Amino acid sequence: MATVPGSADAFTQGAGYVLPDYPFVEPPEIRSGAVRRHAVVIVGAGLSGLTLACGLARLGIAAVLLDEDHTVGVKGASSRGICYTQKSLEIFQRLGVYERIAARGIQWSVGRTYAGQDEVYSFDLRQNSSYSLSAQPPFINLQQFYIEAYLVERLHELGGVDVRWHSRVTGFRQQAGYARLTVETPAGPYTLEAEHVIDASGAHTPFHGWTGATLQSRRGDDRWCIADVRFKTTPPRERRTWIEAPFNGNRAVWQHLMGDEVWRIDYQMKPNADPEAVSREDVVRERLRGQFGPEVEAAAQIVWVGPYAYRSQCVDQLRIGSVFFMGDAAKIVSPFGARGGNSGIADADNLAWKLAAVLNGQAPARLLDSYHEERHEAAVHNVRVTQRTARFLRPAEGMERMFRSAAIGLARQYPFARALINTGRMAVANSYTQSGICERTGGLSVQNVNFRWADRSTGCVNDLIAWAKGQLLVLVFGDLSAAVAQRLRQLGQLAPVRCVQVVGRGTRPQAVELVVDPQGHLQGACHVFGHAWALLRPDAYIAATGESVDADLIQALQKALAIEE
Ligand SMILES: Cc1cc2nc3c(=O)[nH]c(=O)nc-3n(C[C@H](O)[C@H](O)[C@H](O)COP(=O)(O)OP(=O)(O)OC[C@H]3O[C@@H](n4cnc5c(N)ncnc54)[C@H](O)[C@@H]3O)c2cc1C
Repeated sequence: MATVPGSADAFTQGAGYVLPDYPFVEPPEIRSGAVRRHAVVIVGAGLSGLTLACGLARLGIAAVLLDEDHTVGVKGASSRGICYTQKSLEIFQRLGVYERIAARGIQWSVGRTYAGQDEVYSFDLRQNSSYSLSAQPPFINLQQFYIEAYLVERLHELGGVDVRWHSRVTGFRQQAGYARLTVETPAGPYTLEAEHVIDASGAHTPFHGWTGATLQSRRGDDRWCIADVRFKTTPPRERRTWIEAPFNGNRAVWQHLMGDEVWRIDYQMKPNADPEAVSREDVVRERLRGQFGPEVEAAAQIVWVGPYAYRSQCVDQLRIGSVFFMGDAAKIVSPFGARGGNSGIADADNLAWKLAAVLNGQAPARLLDSYHEERHEAAVHNVRVTQRTARFLRPAEGMERMFRSAAIGLARQYPFARALINTGRMAVANSYTQSGICERTGGLSVQNVNFRWADRSTGCVNDLIAWAKGQLLVLVFGDLSAAVAQRLRQLGQLAPVRCVQVVGRGTRPQAVELVVDPQGHLQGACHVFGHAWALLRPDAYIAATGESVDADLIQALQKALAIEE
């Protein structure tokens, strides 16, 4: 039955996931028979493509979004990503879907790691000062298809993006300054043109071949099997990981709670295990019995089972001609540390404001080259970090296994050795050290901390960004002389930038927009101290910081938008 994109009610129905079914609507190209040219065509309505589409819609940029499928979740693998980081949640708040995610998702901050019967390591992220000030929690767990469905809903609320389901891109040709795409649909094929093609079509993208992209790829023999399970009596709401689980042949196990009271249990299988054999229901039940005992297992409802293998991969160039690679089309990482989907969301957030600035005429087209500089650095880093975890979890026989056994043995006794236990380094906002548009002082992410507007109502960094409507923000901390206030006012008239004075307390005569930061959280989040300014981008990254409002600020502003001096 076809469902019109509307409210994403519970998709967990009985012993299974029932996902929405979005209808095919005949596109104008087929109705008119004419080839149309679009500024932006996004291929793939997964996590990254949908995030980008929402980001563009919010900034008033029209786009076409094509997906070969007609639902959320990935064909044959409906349950994949579960864990969304603070940075992603902050992005989702800006896009207007955070409340829905928080309402259905599970907030967690406590993680425990075991080897055999012993707890070798535990943490509570809420005790970690780097997480505590944001309006969003450190993590939320929710099945990926819910996030995607909320983004689809949001796109329909925002308008401006033409979402086309049942639309498979089967051909591509690069032309001068644009590309031609062939799209197969139930009503037949058609051609459209795009000035910017965003390849968000995932791990099996056809665009690598079409564009001649080169890449680094590595695949191992590590094999896993997911069981999404509902219990009558639920285990504690903590992330639990076993490096060596006695109930799983001394191999690893992950245990997470997701939405609808469904537990995700990931079991590491023998190397090169046969995916069909390990995912048979009787085999899965045997595993659950081993972990939870016969009584719990008998009452458990298996919602979904999925075997998986993974590879590490990264394209060498995130942009080739009109094509931009993002999400899994740009890089693939092992799932340990939740760096796949979360970094795809960050790719989208990075590109959205740049595309909007270029298409709105506020920045030259070369601003888009910074997408590669910034997100390729992030991709390479994420691949490296997850490869290390993968090697810890599936060590090569010999030296690597010996090192792991020694690390586990030491961690049982000595706190210093706990840092060697690597069950996944959780995703964080990547820093940009190679960016051509950030000053040396920039490239850092800004948390979504609270402050007070001049009328004393509470605001957060995302409110400031929304108020700036896609423009850069100059935050000036401390008092302003009349001359500096005048300079800032002029700057606001000359450049796509909005200026804000941030004071510690009280309300002084307003020179520019004024906000109050009584505890200095906003200033701390912007990584500056004392009298200073910070240039904040629409993706909540700092482009530059400085002390006096002078030529350095103008220079940083031009650099942030890739405007030549
Ligand atoms: C077991 C597992 C657990 C994971 N856990 C996490 C986690 O906890 N947190 C996290 O952040 N990440 C996690 N990930 C990774 C995450 O699922 C992926 O990184 C994420 O799905 C990538 O999103 P994407 O939008 O780039 O690609 P996809 O989600 O693969 O979406 C691609 C879209 O493109 C469409 N498409 C493909 N080809 C075409 C075509 N030719 N024409 C039109 N449309 C096309 C597809 O239908 C699909 O909708 C996990 C992955 C696995 C396997």
